[in-house]
Amino acid sequence: MARPKKILIPRDNFNQFDCFNSKERLINIFRKKLGSLADFYGFSKTHTSPFENHRFFSPLTKAGLLDDREFVIHKNKINDFITLRPSSILSALRAYITNKLFDLSHPLKMSVDEECFRANSKEAAGLVVYPDFSLLMFGEANAVAEAEIFQVVWQSVRDLGFPTDKLEVKINSLGCKECRPSYRSTLSAYLRSRLSRLCKNCKKDLKVSPTNIFSCGEEKCKIVAGNAPAVLDFLCEACKKYLRELLEFLDEMSIPYLLDGKFFRDRSLYNKIIWEIWATGTAQPVEEGGDSNIKDYLIGEGGGLSGVFEILSERPLDVFSGTVFVENLERFVFQEKLLLGGNPKPNIFLIQLGELAKRKSFGLMENLRKAGIEVGESLSKDAIKSQLKSAEVAEVALILGQKEALDRTIIVRDTQSGIQETVPQDKLIDFLKRKLEKQNQL
Ligand SMILES: [Zn+2]
Ligand SMILES: [Zn+2]
Repeated sequence: MARPKKILIPRDNFNQFDCFNSKERLINIFRKKLGSLADFYGFSKTHTSPFENHRFFSPLTKAGLLDDREFVIHKNKINDFITLRPSSILSALRAYITNKLFDLSHPLKMSVDEECFRANSKEAAGLVVYPDFSLLMFGEANAVAEAEIFQVVWQSVRDLGFPTDKLEVKINSLGCKECRPSYRSTLSAYLRSRLSRLCKNCKKDLKVSPTNIFSCGEEKCKIVAGNAPAVLDFLCEACKKYLRELLEFLDEMSIPYLLDGKFFRDRSLYNKIIWEIWATGTAQPVEEGGDSNIKDYLIGEGGGLSGVFEILSERPLDVFSGTVFVENLERFVFQEKLLLGGNPKPNIFLIQLGELAKRKSFGLMENLRKAGIEVGESLSKDAIKSQLKSAEVAEVALILGQKEALDRTIIVRDTQSGIQETVPQDKLIDFLKRKLEKQNQL
């Protein structure tokens, strides 16, 4: 077995892995939305072990699909290499294989939402911890598997309020065992005949990964890549049919996509099909006061995993997956200052004045919660000024003072218009429901 060359021991400064307030709230919204859609489409929630035996994944590193240096590895007393969960997909594949789920009824659908760990020497702590949400479907050969996974990822991002014009979908067929070799050899021959026009890296990659030319940023390589043969012209009948069916599904769902025969990724685990969803930043020219740090974010990707599955299990099986990079969703929302659907700010905010009102507030909050009405509060604050400030974001402020607490009434104030009325507390829930209904109709 190939041993990892280096044991990575994180240094310190783990504050960056703590998550608070708005970031945590957003990430939770994403996870909830993804989880509920996955649930609706019948993907069963699966938790995987945070620890993995590195040995299990070494066939993939041997095949050049993974880099040992990216694992967060610990060597235990019996000289085994324990790694922290490297990605939700890899752990899900391992869970399927070692729990011997082959005999269950198929297609088998899994959704996995986990924290994952990657070693990264460029980071201060020597590692990256990130939430990774993936869907997997085992044992379904038809393009419907891929389309369904894509649909859940796409729809959840759309439901969150990401505008379609900020989303870009790239898709390509990578070919299969039958048709890929002829494409590879044609592309390699084409590049060899133009060797003098390639950069150093592309020359070096030519033997192992000739498709790297398509992601090279060098101008001269871009020109060579522009005229290079595209994989789509080399697909066998089965690959063509599969791609056609998948695109028909996407058309049916009105999902805009760019079919790009020169879209490949180095060290990709995917085979058969590869797709990516990008959120594109609204960049304005710096000279017009724009921010030069505006970035595009990769928010989702997917494709076939049958090749990886076969390497790990030595059994053939159709496996497809899609992954959402939850942290990139959060970064993009932050960058673009997007206001998402499912905004966590409550529409209603409770203000209490005086000791009696504060005590009575607990019962009131509980009644509202039971009625399914979300209410913000700042029970720990006493000053009306600071409470009003907190209530500014809400559409309705409920004000409970000493007098109202004694009368069993409450003041309902429209924060926009400033209009307020006094409502008996036992009529409050009906009153608020009617008010919220009216607002939703607007
Ligand atoms: Zn093929
Ligand atoms: Zn190049």
